[in-house]
Amino acid sequence: MIKAFKYLASLTLIGFISLVLLFNFSPRFKKSAQIKTLDKIGDIAAKRLSENPDVEGSAAAEFINIPIEAREISSGIWQATGVGNAHIITTKSGDVLFDTGLSTQVPKQIKVLNDAVDDLNISHIIVSHSHADHQGGVKFWKDDETQIITHAEFAEEQRYLTELQDYFWGRNRTLFPFMPETPPRLNLLAYGGVEPTQTVSNGEPLKFSQGGVEFEIYALPGAEGADNIVLWLPQKKILFSGDFFGPFFPQFPNIFTMRGEKIRKPAEYIQSLNVIISLGPDMIVPSHKDPIIDKVIIDSGLVKMRDAVGYVHDAVVDGMNAGKTVEQLMTDIKLPPNLSLTQQHGKVSWAVKSIWEYYATWFHFDKTTELYAVPQDNVYVDIVSLAGGAALTQKAQDYIAQDKPLEALHILNMVLGVQMDNKMALEARKAALQTLLKRAEMGDQNSYEIYWLNYRLRETQASLDAQ
Ligand SMILES: [Zn+2]
Repeated sequence: MIKAFKYLASLTLIGFISLVLLFNFSPRFKKSAQIKTLDKIGDIAAKRLSENPDVEGSAAAEFINIPIEAREISSGIWQATGVGNAHIITTKSGDVLFDTGLSTQVPKQIKVLNDAVDDLNISHIIVSHSHADHQGGVKFWKDDETQIITHAEFAEEQRYLTELQDYFWGRNRTLFPFMPETPPRLNLLAYGGVEPTQTVSNGEPLKFSQGGVEFEIYALPGAEGADNIVLWLPQKKILFSGDFFGPFFPQFPNIFTMRGEKIRKPAEYIQSLNVIISLGPDMIVPSHKDPIIDKVIIDSGLVKMRDAVGYVHDAVVDGMNAGKTVEQLMTDIKLPPNLSLTQQHGKVSWAVKSIWEYYATWFHFDKTTELYAVPQDNVYVDIVSLAGGAALTQKAQDYIAQDKPLEALHILNMVLGVQMDNKMALEARKAALQTLLKRAEMGDQNSYEIYWLNYRLRETQASLDAQ
């Protein structure tokens, strides 16, 4: 009943939104009407998320529950908090906006910043990269005069993220089951459509001064994609880093994304870190979570991250030249104690695989079948009929008992590839996944590894429940 009501309410809302968006009001009125509508959608989305039991306790919940407030992080510099932060650098002649948050949160961020800053007048919008949680507000903030600054690769990144939107959405929704079924298609809410008026290329920083404030924008690829830019305020030694550092500082970076974006170039990441080290920031302001103000943590963290990525990169290259397999290297390469960093976001063994595949591509030069479109799964039926599902499952259980869950999963892939409803095999898969989950939770606590294992556990449990 409640569900039906929610459904009706959302249909009514969609009808109302369509009307608002279709009517050709004066542009200013049209925009303020759209913003009000969007604010309502944002409230509904936030409420739905906060009531969803799947969200509770997850890293996503931590972000969703951040209140939207304006705070002055340095004199004349304001941050609107949220899932993604938006920043205003005020000057005597026009203000500069760095990153624009998630589209459903923009109305509230606009409101809190307008309340905090007198006569807010945005001359420039700098977008750190093409991800939705950074560019979502551009359409709301800009007018015909606004300069929009991005990396020169922004348009290309935005193009492929738009064209593959359904693919990314499907994968993200698998990991975050509380997401709506389809991506937003409505005008202002929809991803993309940002057209830069000025771009910054690698190695060629863009510098300007306005109202007594000096601005320097550096293209620093290699972290959150090829189109990453950061804003440097040399007078205050503040670095607005977008997603360059990810959710923790310092951390081992995520050069691989589970949702399946292009692999990030490790050598570019190291070069980019060298640029930041040479700037010597006193404060780092990421577009998620809080600013980092401890100079000792900043200086040591930057060097450690650079050296850790360099270490892993060089070890992969050495291993490739020595003829080792990618699996050997994933097992062998570990950060030495002096370079140890949290792997909650980026995982060293996945970086090893990514660096390998970045250089060597998908053909690992061993199995002929890799070159052709007949998968191994095609012969599982033969293996299962020769060995028997019960005997194979018993072998998998033995492996689980020996604390070898991956060997068990290999065997269970064969059994369950043929006998989807084999209860013993499903129970064994559940046990193997639980072992892996426990290892992940006790070990690196990598959030994506945990999301994935939970997804597979939900799926296995659903198959068991269906019996
Ligand atoms: Zn982000």
